[in-house]
Amino acid sequence: MAAARCKECGKPTRDRSYTGPFYPAGGSNPAIICGRGSCEEPAEEIWLKEEEITRYRNGDRIFDFNTFGGGKIKLADVNPTTTGTPT
Ligand SMILES: [Zn+2]
Repeated sequence: MAAARCKECGKPTRDRSYTGPFYPAGGSNPAIICGRGSCEEPAEEIWLKEEEITRYRNGDRIFDFNTFGGGKIKLADVNPTTTGTPT
C-alpha cells in the first residue's frame, strides 16, 4: 500500500522498501494529511512499494495509500449539508 507523506517526513522509515516520491495528479490536496504518527501537515509526496512501482510503470495511476497511522483527511469546520455543526 502506498504511503502519503509531507515533504518534511519524506520517505517512510519503518519500511525502507518504499521508493519515490511520486506526486498526486493535479497537485497535493491540503486535506490529505501525512500518514506519519501525529504529523498534521498536508501529504505532498506519495511513496510506492516495489509491486506498486511495477503497476505504475504499466500505466496504473490509482493506488490505496497510507499504511502506517491509517489514512488521514482533514475536514472543514462546518458541514454545509447540515445547519452548521455536524450531529
Ligand atoms: Zn509529515
